Amino acid sequence: MTFAALGLAEPLLHALAQLGYKTPTTVQQQAIPAILAGRDVVAAAQTGTGKTAAFALPILHRLAEEETPVGENLVRALVLVPTRELAEQVMESFRQYGAGLPLSVYAAYGGVNLGPQLQRLQQGVDVLVATPGRLIDLFTKGAVKFRELRTVVLDEADRMFDLGFANDLDILFSALPRQRQTLLFSATFPPAIGDLAGKRLKKPLRIEAAPRNTAAKSVKQWVVPVDKKRKTDLFLFMRKDRDWRQVLVFVKTKKGCDELVERLSTKQIPAEAIHGDRPQASRLKALEAFKAGEIEVLVATDVAARGIDIDGLPLVINFDLPLQAEDYVHRIGRTGRAGQAGEAISFVAADEAPLLAAVENLLRKALSRDEEPGFEPKHQVPPTGPNAVAKPKPAVSKPKAGGRGGPSNWVDEFSDNKPGRRGPGRGGFGGARKPAGKPRGR
Ligand code: AMP
Repeated sequence: MTFAALGLAEPLLHALAQLGYKTPTTVQQQAIPAILAGRDVVAAAQTGTGKTAAFALPILHRLAEEETPVGENLVRALVLVPTRELAEQVMESFRQYGAGLPLSVYAAYGGVNLGPQLQRLQQGVDVLVATPGRLIDLFTKGAVKFRELRTVVLDEADRMFDLGFANDLDILFSALPRQRQTLLFSATFPPAIGDLAGKRLKKPLRIEAAPRNTAAKSVKQWVVPVDKKRKTDLFLFMRKDRDWRQVLVFVKTKKGCDELVERLSTKQIPAEAIHGDRPQASRLKALEAFKAGEIEVLVATDVAARGIDIDGLPLVINFDLPLQAEDYVHRIGRTGRAGQAGEAISFVAADEAPLLAAVENLLRKALSRDEEPGFEPKHQVPPTGPNAVAKPKPAVSKPKAGGRGGPSNWVDEFSDNKPGRRGPGRGGFGGARKPAGKPRGR
């Protein structure tokens, strides 16, 4: 299958060739013809599957067929995204793909001055990428008019719900024309997304690019049990020992991000934090520096990291497990992108067992555990895994020390519930099916 076979316009094919895209990914193969045909689409596709091009290419193709330039304050296609970073990234993708087309693309998000956005929108834009809150501000000021809107995309829709945008989405949808194409992309499918699809989309084509709630196939995932207070030392040790050069680290809190960066800086390790307290400009600067290899460790909270797109990122470290299991899928979606191999290692302390259980329950498999010699935890991480009952207090005897972490201990993806070589088996799979950690109820 080629992009040409999908019927895309020549300037788009040219841009794709320039970018080195040879064949469409699964989600692209399925979504592009449907979107070109004007259908609504609901796609289960996480970051790294090529989902942005899956909607951007057919939208650009259809917009290129318009004969008149877009009018004042009008918008022809709208992409709603949960965060500023993702807005920037999606805009950049549209600009790259549409480089040979006379179409305008603009991103509007909160946290920056409204003035320049009001001014730019006056001329109208073909594709507007926006975060919901800021778009409502712009709409109520009359800066954006939807009467010529043809297509609306909800990108990372699950995340929009997580971030509390449900009301904003209701307001926005009530302002959109009834005659429109609606495309919904989401990595996970909590019930709220199903409701939204049922209410707002017309006979959508359902596409499942990756099995639901599972992580990208090429990402090798494993867990290092470790005592909480030794996590930083473990990170420093493994970084040096394994020669990690470019690593994205997820930390639960903003304070935790800053503390880790500070500690790394005292060791002359180039590192930066990105979290909600840092101004947008410095977040983008840190991200660019990380992409360019000027900093080696990027430490991020979940919200700030949303939408990070770095080609071929080899490694993600979950310094803390996420409070919400779905975030694990998003986090590890940063690595192993577009079919490349990646690795995701989670440092798990005893009190994080319920969070680990929730992740494993979501993935429908247990993650291999591998202690790092010299960092064996004093407080054992209780048993987890889809079939285990995690106990609130450590109750298992200390497992025998084993080999080092690394490829030989990687979990075989999709070998559902099969323990890795020396992994979760030690935690025990006996007992009731109900995991101790409960994924978010929605
Ligand atoms: P996304 O899932 O949209 O975040 O895309 C993940 C990464 O895959 C981005 O870096 C894209 O540039 C890249 N990509 C998307 N589609 C293709 C393709 N068909 N061939 C090669 N790379 C692609």
